[in-house]
Amino acid sequence: MPLYEENDLMLYNSLSRKKEKFSALNAPHLGLYVCGPTVYSEVHLGNCRTFISFDMVYRYLRHLGYKVRYVRNITDAGHLENDADEGEDKIAQRARLEQLEPMEIVQNYTLNFHEVLAKFNTIPPSIEPTATGHIVEQIDMIVKIIEAGLAYEKNGSVYFNVAKYNESENYGELSGRKIEELISGTRELDAQSEKESPLDFAIWKKASPSHIMRWNSPWGEGFPGWHLECSVMSTKYLGEEFDIHGGGMDLKFPHHECEIAQNKAGTGHKGPRYWMHGNMLTLNGQKMSKSTGNTLSPRELFSGDTDKLEKGFHPTIARFFMMQAHYGSQLDFSSEALMAAEKGYHRLMSAWHKLQGLASGSGADFSVQEWRASCYAAMNDDFNSPVLISQLFEAASFINGREGDSGLSDNDLELLKTTLHDFIFEVLGLEDIAHAASGGGSDKLEEVVQILLELRMQARADRNFALSDTIRDQLAAVGIEVKDGKDGATFSIKS
Ligand code: AMP
Ligand code: ZN
Repeated sequence: MPLYEENDLMLYNSLSRKKEKFSALNAPHLGLYVCGPTVYSEVHLGNCRTFISFDMVYRYLRHLGYKVRYVRNITDAGHLENDADEGEDKIAQRARLEQLEPMEIVQNYTLNFHEVLAKFNTIPPSIEPTATGHIVEQIDMIVKIIEAGLAYEKNGSVYFNVAKYNESENYGELSGRKIEELISGTRELDAQSEKESPLDFAIWKKASPSHIMRWNSPWGEGFPGWHLECSVMSTKYLGEEFDIHGGGMDLKFPHHECEIAQNKAGTGHKGPRYWMHGNMLTLNGQKMSKSTGNTLSPRELFSGDTDKLEKGFHPTIARFFMMQAHYGSQLDFSSEALMAAEKGYHRLMSAWHKLQGLASGSGADFSVQEWRASCYAAMNDDFNSPVLISQLFEAASFINGREGDSGLSDNDLELLKTTLHDFIFEVLGLEDIAHAASGGGSDKLEEVVQILLELRMQARADRNFALSDTIRDQLAAVGIEVKDGKDGATFSIKS
């Protein structure tokens, strides 16, 4: 029996604003769509949080035995500077500033995105479609929306008619916004506006003479509106109705609201049955965002080359830090929080390593079965990774309290090992730094020093000060200086 049949997965559906019992439309198959990045600049850690959260969701769904088709797009056209269908295309603007072809910008930042996500040990999606690779399909959907009477053409652009749609549907159902409030919140249309109402949004925009990214269409040369690509690519690869759609909270409105309206108008169905939204990563209490400059790049995080951090961190530490918060809660990034996560990670890992050396026995006051059930219960409760991690620490405390003999039967010991392995590595996607095959030689060196420091800590705990001093002195002799602080030992490597 597949695991998903034994586990009632509850997930918070942003559409109903309730936790619902998940059921797949066509189990064991499951369709998951996540809005991908707009590849006009380097990803920041905020973006990474959203993709890491959905990587954890993807991993758990796979662990439960679903055959997941995971589609995550690349936005390489159509995303304008602001949500009111105005301003330059973000990619075209960057291309103009850097005097490059738009596709050079796209290539450069797509590679950066892949490289960074691989460092965080995320699993690539099954399909990674691009907006520019689906212009024909986007034009087809626009034609269908016009035929349904829900869009109109004006001077070579096509706009979605929100008021008309709202006569029979509820525009605002996802974001909880009321159409009257939306109307009063928008500024008056200026005389030149082609829109019939300020709420209408472009699904096709006529290209001005200077706009470099342009395609032929029945309405002349232009480019698709940003919201359209996700409707088109999700339906193309997952069907008119599919299981889960995810993205960051900031995309709920207007992006996802518009997706629902386009889906319904173009296909008669609203697309996903469950909407999941990841919450924001903040820095100093403010949302990390490219446009405000309140960001930290993955490069700065790994190298520590920034005044926002005391030192660099391995990507898996940042991943562990993120997993310690629920994906739906806001999370503030700080040097102290990362230091604490690093300590927690090492505590968990040293228990994992110690477990490998424990023998079976009897008499332990720890029920592996019950503990395992609580791990699943945590994840079945809307992917509650922080509660799962607290369960992993329960097991770590048990392991740390044993010497030589685990007090567990052969079967229980084996079950403890496989369950810990599944949740630490498969579901949370953490890496064992001590054993990770990392490319850079210096990374390896740091990992080795870390192992020595752990052994030294163990020696001190055993009051074997002669050994602990020898480790420190011998490291010093090869130019590695160890400093003891209140939060444990740190080291610096002289080159
Ligand atoms: P973008 O490239 O701007 O389209 O964003 C890519 C993804 O990152 C979207 O799902 C956003 O919701 C998400 N995102 C942007 N800023 C943050 C943040 N500070 N924290 C978490 N996710 C974010
Ligand atoms: Zn999208």
